[in-house]
Amino acid sequence: MPLGAHTMEFPRRIRIGEGILGELGDFVEFPLERSAVIASGANVQERLEDVVGRSIGAPAEWVVVTSSDIENVERVMRAAEGAYCIIGIGGGKSVDVGKLAAFRASLPFFSVPTSASHDGIASPFASISGSGTHHSERAKPPVGILADIEVIASAPRRLEAAGCGDLVSKLTAVKDWELASTEAGEYYGGYAASLARMSAQVFLDASKRIGAFDSDSARALVEGLISAGVAAGIAGSSRPCSGSEHLFSHALDSIAPGKGLHGEQCGIGTIMMAALHGLDWERVRSALKDVRAPTAAAEIGVSDEEVKRALVDAPSMRPERYTILSKVRLDRASAGELAKRTGVI
Ligand SMILES: [Zn+2]
Repeated sequence: MPLGAHTMEFPRRIRIGEGILGELGDFVEFPLERSAVIASGANVQERLEDVVGRSIGAPAEWVVVTSSDIENVERVMRAAEGAYCIIGIGGGKSVDVGKLAAFRASLPFFSVPTSASHDGIASPFASISGSGTHHSERAKPPVGILADIEVIASAPRRLEAAGCGDLVSKLTAVKDWELASTEAGEYYGGYAASLARMSAQVFLDASKRIGAFDSDSARALVEGLISAGVAAGIAGSSRPCSGSEHLFSHALDSIAPGKGLHGEQCGIGTIMMAALHGLDWERVRSALKDVRAPTAAAEIGVSDEEVKRALVDAPSMRPERYTILSKVRLDRASAGELAKRTGVI
């Protein structure tokens, strides 16, 4: 394929508003006598089963997602044989698992986020773990997204703060993409890059207001995360959403598993990668502080040593992805210096 030739894919419909979960059945537009499979966590099922069940009005089988791995994807696929669609309701795992299961089973996928914690809500990628690592698997974007702001605003604040970290990370992701284009001749899509950068900018401009964690904050965040996912759809790759700061987060996932949330780790990574890129990293840090997102490793229980190792290991998480870390090869000493200078350790 010539450089830059690719297929753009988008969600077809997005409905966003307060108290609209009960409109899910109408939104999905079930054909007569067809059923749905719903992938969600056990808590979400307990909390929302009544309202979702009433709304759908069609036979629905709930599959409880326990982890974002292939075993869960296969379980959802088996349940979905003969179903009309798969609906993923949840924060992260259930949407990732439902999305990949629907892609593999060639079924429409509907995304119903219950928190604004990461950009997988709308993106064509699913983050799946396996053999100790996390990786991003190509799927299709959801055909529909129903975002009930009331549900999202009632999620724990830690999740929203993590969403801010995933949003601000577009700043360095886009810089890395630019660099890959000038230094490694990679395709660069200016429009997708601008859209992703804007998601980060909306957060940076309004971080104080978003820190109020009211329904306006939830709406601003979820719109930003959806736009970022759409930017990935336009780019035909995760480039505008995921750069060196994500590689740092992936490295932490294997070095210090289960400590920080994805968005928290990406936010901390963005502070350091912004410094490497010569961007205003202090602004990134103060915006994250405005929403009480962690800006230091100790806040997520990660040691200084683990940060240094993650910085050194980050490029090997995805060797084909050219980022600032491919250009500035960090060793233990320079990694420690960077983390100290930016207040991460
Ligand atoms: Zn992310």
